[in-house]
Amino acid sequence: MKKIAVLTSGGDSPGMNAAIRAVVRKGIFSGLEVYGVYQGYQGLMQGQIKKLEVGSVGDIIHRGGTMLYTARSEEFKTDEGQYKAISQLKALGIEGLVVIGGDGSYQGAAKLTEKGFPCIGLPGTIDNDIAGTDYTIGFDTALNTVVDAIDKIRDTATSHDRTFIIEVMGRRAGDIALWSGLAGGAETILIPEHPHELEEMMERLNSGISRGKKHSIIVLAEGVGSADDLAGELMGKFGLETRISVLGHIQRGGKPTGRDRVLASRLGAKAVELLLEGKGGRAIGIIKEQIVDLDLQEIAGKKDPLPENLYILSQELSI
Ligand code: ATP
Repeated sequence: MKKIAVLTSGGDSPGMNAAIRAVVRKGIFSGLEVYGVYQGYQGLMQGQIKKLEVGSVGDIIHRGGTMLYTARSEEFKTDEGQYKAISQLKALGIEGLVVIGGDGSYQGAAKLTEKGFPCIGLPGTIDNDIAGTDYTIGFDTALNTVVDAIDKIRDTATSHDRTFIIEVMGRRAGDIALWSGLAGGAETILIPEHPHELEEMMERLNSGISRGKKHSIIVLAEGVGSADDLAGELMGKFGLETRISVLGHIQRGGKPTGRDRVLASRLGAKAVELLLEGKGGRAIGIIKEQIVDLDLQEIAGKKDPLPENLYILSQELSI
């Protein structure tokens, strides 16, 4: 293999730039030519491909977002779109592709591999919702952004004796909510993996109130529902007045934490090593601090269960 390419796809996440940098630099270090594909699969089908040099990825390791930009593409989901993408790569003599993205991007990479073009998947999403890895690139940064927000909201909740509902991202996964709720000392954490009863939640809040606590923080994963709806239910059923904070896209931006940068660098370098060994169709992750690679097709569309012990702990500590 002499030429490889890298792209970012789906939702962006902090650390994607560090991963691109690792692929480019490790590739050049290993004697390869490395190409950047702009605008994800959409740009790939259109041939938006440029050779990258060592300097092309200078000064990006600390930046959020992705220098290659990202996009979503319906056309790429078709066989025709995938063949178009492969022909653009082949026209430049490129023989392997590193895809940094979430679950949908993995499915795309699996399809290209199926059609004979070797791809490697790197987990780039804040949601931590990809199987075969304990952590995705961007999760740690998003977690710290949310914890910082919870700390700030706690100040005002305490000053005004208020109950706050903080809605966080995660799509169908509760990882951001669980980890940030635990780290932020939330009284209640609502995640899609654990169906909740409003009555039970009120009992928990009331037990705090009965020992003199006047403010509470509820962390709500977006996969459960909206903060607006929950506030309406709490008012309607229990007369509990709440304030809402929907954190939104600030969770996706910002400079990556040291941990995300190291993770991105390790995973990016491993992707190049696999391609050099002639291996495609692998998804790279980190399990128990070891870098692993698993079958991309088996990983795509799946999610590992949440660490149950963390959920139990969050319940035990928020009595
Ligand atoms: P995130 O979870 O961070 O939003 P993602 O990678 O899951 O990222 P998606 O929009 O689901 O984001 O997927 C990105 C792109 O991957 C899609 O726009 C599409 O082009 C491609 N893709 C998604 N699913 C498939 C599929 N089943 N087959 C082929 N390509 C797909």
